[in-house]
This record gives sequence, C-alpha cells and structure tokens, in this order.
Amino acid sequence: MVKSLSHSLFVLLTFFSTSVLSLTNSEIDQQLEHANKIRSNNFSLFEASIAKLANASVQMTNEQKDYLNYLVAYKYTFAGETKKASSILLEILNSPDSALSIKFRARVTLINIFAIQQNWSMGLSHLSQLLNEINHISDAEVYLNGLTITSVFYNQLGQYERGQKYAEQLKEQASKSRELCISKQLIIEASLRLNQLRKNKLNFSDAIDACNQEPIMANFIRSYAASFYIDNNEPQKASDTLSPYLDEIEGTRYPRLIAEVYSTLAIAHWNFHDLKQAEIFAEKSIQVGESIQTTQAVVDAYKLMYQISLRNNNFQSSLKYHTKFAELDKAHLEGEKAKHLAFQLAEHQTFEQESQIKLLNEQNNALAAEQALAKTEAANKKLIILSLALIILVLSVLGFRFYRAHKRVKELAEYDPLTGIFNRGHFTHVTESALKYCKNAQQDLSLIMFDLDHFKKINDSFGHGCGDWALKETIKVCKSIGRQNDIFARLGGEEFCLVLPSCNIDAAMLRAEDCRAAIEAIITEESTHDFTITASFGVTDVKRSGFNLDKLLADADMAAYESKNAGRNRVTVHQVPEPKKPSLDNAWSID
Ligand code: GH3
Ligand code: MG
Ligand code: MG
Repeated sequence: MVKSLSHSLFVLLTFFSTSVLSLTNSEIDQQLEHANKIRSNNFSLFEASIAKLANASVQMTNEQKDYLNYLVAYKYTFAGETKKASSILLEILNSPDSALSIKFRARVTLINIFAIQQNWSMGLSHLSQLLNEINHISDAEVYLNGLTITSVFYNQLGQYERGQKYAEQLKEQASKSRELCISKQLIIEASLRLNQLRKNKLNFSDAIDACNQEPIMANFIRSYAASFYIDNNEPQKASDTLSPYLDEIEGTRYPRLIAEVYSTLAIAHWNFHDLKQAEIFAEKSIQVGESIQTTQAVVDAYKLMYQISLRNNNFQSSLKYHTKFAELDKAHLEGEKAKHLAFQLAEHQTFEQESQIKLLNEQNNALAAEQALAKTEAANKKLIILSLALIILVLSVLGFRFYRAHKRVKELAEYDPLTGIFNRGHFTHVTESALKYCKNAQQDLSLIMFDLDHFKKINDSFGHGCGDWALKETIKVCKSIGRQNDIFARLGGEEFCLVLPSCNIDAAMLRAEDCRAAIEAIITEESTHDFTITASFGVTDVKRSGFNLDKLLADADMAAYESKNAGRNRVTVHQVPEPKKPSLDNAWSID
C-alpha cells in the first residue's frame, strides 16, 4: 500500500516539476473536468493542463488524486507508453479507497490497452468485471464509454454478434454525435464480417454523415463499403468510394486505416485488371503496414503482390512475396486462433463462476439473516443461535443441492452414464464446432469408430453385468492413451467414436492401433470370468470424407464394417472409391 502510494506520487512528481500552484478545491475539480473534456481533441493542451494540475496534487483530495492519476494514465496510453499507463490504472483499481466511477473509467482504459496489446484473456477478464459494474454507473457519458469499449473489444476479438449487440445499445442511448458515429461504425463493421449488410439494409452514407466530424471513423466506414462492393462484383464502385478521400485518409495518419484502404483499393484495381495501379496500392499498404501488428489487409496486399508478380512472369518476386504472404498468413491465423481460445476459456470460466455465485448467494442470504437476528434480544440468544445454525445448515444444504442438481442435469445432458464419455447428442454438438474451427483454420481432423466384437456373446455367456464391466474397462484403457482435447463418445450400444482435431490420418491410424492393442490386452480376471475383448476399427479423415460429420461417420462405419468382414480385431482406413468407369462388366456388378 505504502509502496503503491509512493509510486503514484513519484509518477506525479517526476512527470511535472514546475512550481506549486495554489488552487481552491472547486478550481481543481473544474480543471480536472476541463482536462478530461479536451483529452481526445487537443492533446498538447491536455498535456499542459495535467502538468499544471500535478503541481497542485498536494492540495488534492484522494478522489481528485485518483482522477488526476487516471488522466496521467490516459496520457501515457495515448503516447503509446502502455506499460506505465497500465501500472497506474491497476493501482487505481486495486485501491480500496477509489470511487466506483473512477475505477470504472480506469477499467475502460485498461481494456483498451489490452486490446492494443492483443492480450485477449486479460481484456476479457476485465471486460466481465466491467459488465458487472456498468449497471451501477449513473454518469451517462461514463456509461456509454463502457458500452463503446465493450463493443470495440468484442469486434476486435472477432466476436461480432456481441460487438453488434453492444453497439446497438450504444446507438439507442447515444446523445452526442461522436457516440452515434462510433456506434454506426461498429454496427457496420460487425455486419460486414457477419455477412449481414444486405439483410440488415444498412445505409453507408447515413453512417458516413453521422461521422462528418470524425474522419477516421468515416473513412473506416468507406473502406467497409468498398469491401462490400468488391464482394458484390462492383470493384469500380469500390474504387470510386475511396479514391476521392485519399488525401483525407493520409491526413488521419492512422496506419491501420491507411493500410486497409490501400489494400482494398489494390484488390479493386486487380479485379478490374489495372495491374499497374493494383501494384502501387498493394506496395503502399505493405509499407504502411510495417509499423503495425499484421492485419488481414496487409496479408491480402502480400497475396496480391504475389499474384501480380506471377502474372508478370516475375518468378523471383513472386516467390519472395509468396514466402512473406505464407508467413504472415500463418501468423495472422495463429493470432485468430489465440483470440478464439481466449474467448472459449473465458466463456467456460463464466459458467463455472455462475454456478459458484449461485451457491454463494444462498450463503449470503444466510449471513444476512444472521446479522438481522443478532440485533434482537440478548435473552433469546441461545435460541437464536440454534435457529441460525439450522437456517445456515438448511440454506447451505439447499445451495449445495441446487449446485449438485445443476451439475447433474448438465452431466445427464452431455455424458453417457455408464462410461462417463460424451453421449451422441453432445458429441454431435462438439464435433460440429471442431469441424467448423478446423475448416476455417485449414487444419486436419480424423475420426475413428469402433465396435466391440461378438459382444452379444459376452452378455450371453457371463451376464449383462459382465458386459457393462467390459464396456467400462474398454473406455478406461482407450482414454488412458488419449490426448486432453480428443472428443470421445459412445454412439450407442457397444459402438464408440473418437474425433481427433488437428490430427492426420497416419497419426489417427497409429492411435486406433494403440486402442485396438490395449483393448485386446485387457485382463478380465477382475470380472471373475476369463475371456478376451476385441474391437473392429474404421478410420477416416477430412481429406477423404470432407468436413461433413454425417459423411465422416458413414465412411468410418463402412471401414469398421470391412474390419468385421476381414475377421475382426483390426483397423481399416476408409478408401475413397475410384470413380466408376462405364463398362459392360460394371453393369453386371450392380445388384
Ligand atoms: P459384432 O462382432 O458383429 O459386432 O457382434 P456383436 O455381438 O458385438 O453385435 P450385436 O450388434 O449383435 O450385439 C450387440 C450387443 O450389445 C447387443 C446388446 O444387448 C448389447 N448391448 C448394448 N448396449 C449394452 C449395454 O449398455 N450393456 C451391455 N451389457 N450390453 C449392451
Ligand atoms: Mg459388436
Ligand atoms: Mg454394434
């Protein structure tokens, strides 16, 4: 605590070292408000006014000091010194004395910093706290800043449905033209990425008009419009949308915008076969893009340079650009993957927290009851303590039961009760999303199906209980050789399926073979009977069967069936059938 206070004082004192001014308390309030007002439209005046305020820091109340510290952090953020900024902001957030409103503002700026640093998991963690706090914020402007950062963050994370939702709220409640402009820009961005521009009948010029005081936003909207026109085979319209504003766009000196506009213009020119101009724009995009984290626009520009060089028969250049394109494309894809994973993890944690919070709420109720009762007559003390204990016990039991029931319902809905692995319904749900993810990330995915051999015989010879034991044992040994993120399910009866994301057919075959051998090696002594368990396997992957779950299952099933026919206890890989040649013989073979 002492250390952190001295740190903020140090920040203030080293930052500004002119003579100490004497200001009244209300003058300080006014100057803080004024500095806050001009922070985004006159940066040098803003800097000067916080420098002046810092000299008065000794006269300030704790609340005023927090406000000043927050403005200093904002200054560092704006100047790109995010490390210094975040340490001051965290200090405000961790101080038990800071008011909610200033903490909220500090959190907004901190989330902005995490977005700049692409630290998605920290950003999401603070975002979830921000959304808990937002309904306690009474200042309309601060509230709307909260909605803005939420929408901006979700859009940057690629969670456009959420970005859109919060931008819609911002639009409904916006009272200033800047807020309205930002909301429209965010809605158009999200709708473009969600391919909903046509469906939502969004009007670009209306949004651009709303941003006539905000050239960065207005031109981002123009660039979204241009991308939309390119997608709709109207490259000339795309070029006409952006070309008249190139000076204004350059004037913003905002690299992400400039790189995006040039890249879009390059694609438009390529589409109407003006290769010379396409090359000039792609080169400009690459040049500007060097100063920022790789964006899709720069990846596109490299791809275009590669295609142009190839078209001009300049193979050396084309190789150079292709190498760079492939490298950046991979890095970009990795970045997208990291976003996706951070989001999934945060969602998972939220679910866990909700279950815990429900339990805690029950306990809080008990505590509230305890406090109320503690104020009553001392004469009844013994009785009260006894009833309290009872209430706490009942509520805790209820809370625990609720938690357990909730968990149980979830388990019943998702897991097979006998083996503890996914049931068919949940398996379908999880595999569909793994397929979608692998398809987008261009990754392999393999699927293994297996069916126990002559299982009916085990039931008939040693009883159903022994059959159940064999099923459980089979899953136990297969699970013990698997990876964490494999999807393992019981499809029904004695038929199972293993989905291996990011895994090619060779690895899947080895895996199936390991499972086969492990099942065969199960020692059945424990079941008090002596028998051998074996299974027949079928394996396929997305290269053979495509990214379609039904087809993957049908092909693996067919391969498993071949294993059965060939004598059971073996692994068969699905073979893609040769296209049939029309011949006389063939006509006879059809039955
Ligand atoms: P094949 O090698 O051709 O697969 O022969 P099989 O006997 O394994 O195949 P079949 O489909 O004829 O028999 C499957 C048996 O599995 C019939 C069914 O009673 C039994 N079974 C299905 N679910 C369970 C279960 O949960 N527990 C037990 N013990 N048996 C089950
Ligand atoms: Mg069977
Ligand atoms: Mg079967």
